[in-house]
Order: sequence, then structure tokens, then C-alpha cells
Amino acid sequence: MNIKFTTNLSTETATPTEVVPVKDPVGYVHSIETFGSVDGPGIRFVAFLQGCRMRCEFCHNPDTWNIGTGDPYTADELIAKALDYRAFWGKEGGITCSGGESLIQIDFLIDLFKKCKEQGINTCLDTCGQPFTYKEPFFSKFKELMKYTDLSMVDIKHIDPVEHKKLTGFSNERILEMIEYMSNHGHHMWIRHVLIPERTDYDVYLKKLGDYIQTLHYVDRVEVLPYHTMGIVKYEKMGINYPLKGIEPPTHDRVVNAEQLLHTADYHK
Ligand code: SF4
Repeated sequence: MNIKFTTNLSTETATPTEVVPVKDPVGYVHSIETFGSVDGPGIRFVAFLQGCRMRCEFCHNPDTWNIGTGDPYTADELIAKALDYRAFWGKEGGITCSGGESLIQIDFLIDLFKKCKEQGINTCLDTCGQPFTYKEPFFSKFKELMKYTDLSMVDIKHIDPVEHKKLTGFSNERILEMIEYMSNHGHHMWIRHVLIPERTDYDVYLKKLGDYIQTLHYVDRVEVLPYHTMGIVKYEKMGINYPLKGIEPPTHDRVVNAEQLLHTADYHK
């Protein structure tokens, strides 16, 4: 049950690839929420991008998994739609890209967030981090994206790599590499963790996760998200087996316990 605290600074000395912007990349959007209040600071226009390679057992949006479907938007089209709601954003709000997994469409994200910053719009990236890699051309694109990203909301689904793979289909190695890159380069994060009985709700893992988060910089908030069963209906509609059948949401006491072990009160700004 050893946790590998990955740090991969050496690869950053590799010759950077110049990012040649893709002209007017199209983003495929699953859905839009015009008054999001939990997807970053303030009130936000949230675009849920289509596509995700992970298969989290607790995912409540399996309809976002397919890659290459969804409604096509250019960055200009999406910003034009979002600007109808600008009056509600106040000082803190803005645009969030969530998913699915938004980093799958990184060319679109770069174009969108760059144009947002040109117009003074706050940008937030909600990501599970799975597409992250130090390999090119992704890594140079990621660094470019970070120039225009005010905040990243990052999930750590499980701190143990083996358990992470069982829960999501992938190891957490790349995800922790991405988080450590952000931590080492001044990119602000909110870290979130879904508390699931029989999966993540064990003190030994929660304590390790809490210790790990304490090694990071630029973490502005840590949140425990209690597992819920609202996604079951979608699985039934799509004819997919629901992997967590019979597992109930955690009790209030367990949520409080997790918040203590993750030291959430120390971060909340
Ligand atoms: S990363 Fe998000 S969208 Fe993808 S399977 Fe997991 S919970 Fe669902």
C-alpha cells in the first residue's frame, strides 16, 4: 500500500515544443449550465465537454463518456453564449470547463481560455487529470493552457494507485504528476475527493491523502464530496450495469471524519 509521491521535474528540461495554435478548433459540448454555483468561484457559466476515458464506478455522467460526439462550438461561439450571463458573474465568477474530461479537447481549451483572458473573463478548468503526460506535444500544450487558467479543480479519486485503478480503470500516476506540476509552478487548485463507502472511505487512505495534500502548494480549497446515487437512472436508461449497486451514501459522521483527515478547514479561502 505504498504511495508513490511522483515528482518529475527532470523532464521539464527537455527541449520545449513550440505550440502552434490550431486554427479555430471546435469543442464538443455535452451540455451547458448557465448558473453554476459549485464549479469554481462565484456564479459561473459551465460547459461540460464531451468525452472521458476513465470509467469511475461512481460516475454520475456516463452519457459524457463517448469521445467525438456532442454539440460543436468554436471558442467565439461559446463565449458569445456565455456573455449573455456576464452580469451575474460579479467579481469572482466566469467560465468553467468541466466534463467528461475537458483536457481531452486541449486545443479547444487553449483557444477558449486565451480568448476569455483577452476579455477579462475568469477561467476555471475542472479536470480528472487522466490525459496529462510529460510527453510532447501534450505537455507544451498543457503549459500553454495553464497561462490562461485562473484555477483548476482537480479530483483525486483514490490516493492508492492500485485502488485507483480498480475504481476508475486507470492508475493515479499521471494525475498526481499533473497536480505536482501545478503545485511546483504556482497554478492554483481546488482538490476534491469523493467519499464512497467500501471504496474510498477508509481512515488509512484518507489520512494518506490528507498527508499528501499537505505536501502541495497553491491548494486554495479541499473538498469532500459525499457519494450519491443520483446517476443510477442514467445507467438504467443507457442499459449499463451500475457497479456500486447497494452502496449507500456515507453518513454525516463519516463525511465529518473525512473532512478532518483531509484538513479541509485549513484550506478554505
Ligand atoms: S473522470 Fe469524471 S466523467 Fe470521467 S468517468 Fe470519472 S467521474 Fe465520470
